[in-house]
Amino acid sequence: MAITGAAELLVTWEAGLAEASTGRALLLHRAARPDVDAASLPVLPVGEREADLFALRRALFGERMQVRLACSACGADMEFDLDAGEFARSLGGSGGPGGPGDSVVRVQQDGWDVEFRLPGVADLTAAARAGDPRAALLARCLVSAVRDGTTVGAGDLPVPVQRRIAEAVEAADPGADVTLTIACPECGEATRAELDIASYLWTELDAWARDLLLDVHLLATSYGWSEPEILALSPLRRRYYLELCADV
Ligand SMILES: [Zn+2]
Repeated sequence: MAITGAAELLVTWEAGLAEASTGRALLLHRAARPDVDAASLPVLPVGEREADLFALRRALFGERMQVRLACSACGADMEFDLDAGEFARSLGGSGGPGGPGDSVVRVQQDGWDVEFRLPGVADLTAAARAGDPRAALLARCLVSAVRDGTTVGAGDLPVPVQRRIAEAVEAADPGADVTLTIACPECGEATRAELDIASYLWTELDAWARDLLLDVHLLATSYGWSEPEILALSPLRRRYYLELCADV
C-alpha cells in the first residue's frame, strides 16, 4: 500500500465530487491499488476491493474506525469502534499471493463440474440492471458447466448447484458482504447492518479535503505560499505553522 500524497488525494477527491457513489468507490479503489491497471479494477472480486479499501482507510486515517448506527428496535444511537487493519487482513485483499487464477471457484457435485468467476463490481452493476439479477449474474460469471461430459448453459443449472456455487463464492470471497451485528445496550436487541467501506471512506476523505483547503487558505493568507508549497509540507509542519498563525 503506497500512501498517496496530499496533492494526489485532493485530485481524487475533486474528481469524486462530480461522481455518484459507484464512481467514487472506483476512484478510491484506484488510489488504493495504483499497481493495478484501472480497467481491471471493476473486475476484481468484490471482497478483494473491500479489503483494498479497508487497507487504504488504515493507511490514510489509521486503524480505528468509529461507526454510528441506530438500533433497529428502539432507535437508540449506538457508537462503536472497528479495526480497519483487522478487516483488511481478514478479508484478504492486496498483498496476498492472489492472482487472476484465484478468482475462479470450482464446484463438483452429482455429476456436475462447474467453474465460476468471483463477481466484481462490474458484474454486480450489470446484473442489477437486468430483469432477473440472479440469473444475469449466473450467466455473466459462469466460466463452464459440464454435466456427465455435456456442456450446459447458465439457465439450466439446477437450484442445488446454484446454491453450491453461491456458497463457494462466499467462502472464496468473504469480504464481499461485510455485515455487522450489534447488540443494543439499551434494549438488548441485535441490529444487523452492512458496512459500506467505500461510502464511509468517501465521507472521511471529503471532510479531510475541506479541512485541508481551509489550512491552505489560512497559510496562503499568512505567508503568501502557493498551494503546491503548502501541500508539500508534512501534516506536522502544517499544524505548527497554523498554530503560529493563530498565536500572532
Ligand atoms: Zn435498542
